[in-house]
Amino acid sequence: MPEVQVPLPDPLAPGQAVARHEVVILGAGMSGLCMAIQLKRAGIDDFVIIEKQPGLGGTWWDNRYPGAHVDVPAPLYSFSFAPNPRWTRRFASAPEIQAYMQALARSHGLERHLRLGTRLSEARYDEATGHWDFRTDGGDALRARFFVCSTGPLNQPRWPDIAGLDSFAGQRLHSARWDASVPLQGQRVAVIGTGSTAAQLVGPIAQQAGQLQVFQRTANWVLPRMDRPYGVLDGLLARFPPYAAAVRWLWMQVLEWGRRGFDEGTVARRGMLRTAAAHLRRQVKDPVLRERLTPPYPLGCKRIIYSNDFYPAFNQPHVQLVTQAITRVTPQGLVTADGCEHPVDVLVCATGFDTVQLLQSVPVVGRGGRTLQQAWADGPEAFHGLTVAGFPNLFLMLGPNTATGHTSTLLFIEPGVQHAIACMQAVRQGGHRSVEVRADVQRAHNERLQSRLAGSVWSLCRSWYRADNGRIVALFPGFTREYVRAVRKPDLADYRLG
Ligand code: NAP
Repeated sequence: MPEVQVPLPDPLAPGQAVARHEVVILGAGMSGLCMAIQLKRAGIDDFVIIEKQPGLGGTWWDNRYPGAHVDVPAPLYSFSFAPNPRWTRRFASAPEIQAYMQALARSHGLERHLRLGTRLSEARYDEATGHWDFRTDGGDALRARFFVCSTGPLNQPRWPDIAGLDSFAGQRLHSARWDASVPLQGQRVAVIGTGSTAAQLVGPIAQQAGQLQVFQRTANWVLPRMDRPYGVLDGLLARFPPYAAAVRWLWMQVLEWGRRGFDEGTVARRGMLRTAAAHLRRQVKDPVLRERLTPPYPLGCKRIIYSNDFYPAFNQPHVQLVTQAITRVTPQGLVTADGCEHPVDVLVCATGFDTVQLLQSVPVVGRGGRTLQQAWADGPEAFHGLTVAGFPNLFLMLGPNTATGHTSTLLFIEPGVQHAIACMQAVRQGGHRSVEVRADVQRAHNERLQSRLAGSVWSLCRSWYRADNGRIVALFPGFTREYVRAVRKPDLADYRLG
């Protein structure tokens, strides 16, 4: 990874005001909101949430492509302390999730803490005072004792590395920066990518496009999505807390069982393999097309897709699956390795996120002037994805090795938030200046993690879970309960209180 040069910020103008807070939270997505709510509950009301977008939602603000929805059951995509009886279906749509988040912000009085449309340009730890100093793009200065970075791993859109991409003369969209004003009706549309995002948008785009070509580099595993609308009775029952808790608990157990599907030889894995094969057979009648949609890697290595309308899209005459590699983009369209030219009006890149360059856009400078980018030269690593040696009073939400392929990220956010707040309270109540994970603890933790991940199913293919050097930097290998147990209550012996 190239070393990032951190420019020194312009000095503060004499007399320039510095806004002082106890906590600065970067990012108003699910984890930022959870942190804000729990800070209030812990009696810490002096915090600000900085968000570069003009609205809250994080990934749900960014990902507004047609068909965007959550791929875990909605009862698990709501916080344990804030069940939502208003979900209209089991797999909630992006707008519904946005509405849930808006309601959370309103009911917990978070609006006055939000600074939307504000981009951090630097965060720098001041060893002398034990505070973080921040600068925004607008030139504002802030100072806080604690810095919570809740930007998550999926916020930097990755454009495909294909020659000529910039020369394309039509409309070019990335799924995570959707522009709904671009007309698709009757257009010749190309979609690059066949991951979780593409699988959601291909069906809805096929309904509008005059012609749709889907460029697949690697076929993925697709399982049926057991979706259903929630009726009036579901809504009424969901207002009854024991019922809501029971449904949530049940889904948690079902998805935890799904974790076994990542281990060779388990009943869960055999069941998933059989279900995936039957799903493909049932939904795609053409054996040649079926063959081209058959994944070349072991199930679970990349995120499993849950979809009922992805495969059927290819049964329509105006939808074509292209498996030839794209060699270049021209002003008119795409050229594939067989020399074929594919004229296109709208080019949709559902090519995922840059997860390895986590926090690349904001220089985060820790002790000794060392940046997070420098500390992570071999790929991101942290202690339980939460704290990083050399970066006191910094807490990452959904940091390295906290993603899961089988359940809701919210189940990882909640204990992470508890951990971070307990560390903050240890500083505040113990009269300390800082809390920092011990370097030896972080090292030993990551050695254990990497030895568990070596030879796992996730090591057997290319995916956003891995860095270029092959290290698995995004994924947590275990069951949710294991993470929760390890993280919920920090062992302060793992930390140095300064
Ligand atoms: P992704 O899983 O990284 O998929 C990117 C796709 O683009 C892959 O099919 C990849 O092919 C293809 N691609 C990338 N560069 C290419 C190139 N140069 N030429 C051809 N194809 C190229 O990204 P994603 O689908 O956006 O999903 C990322 C993650 O977001 C998911 O794993 C999931 O965790 C999350 N997500 C969640 C939801 C939800 O409902 N909660 C919905 C969508 C996404 P290869 O496979 O060959 O690399």
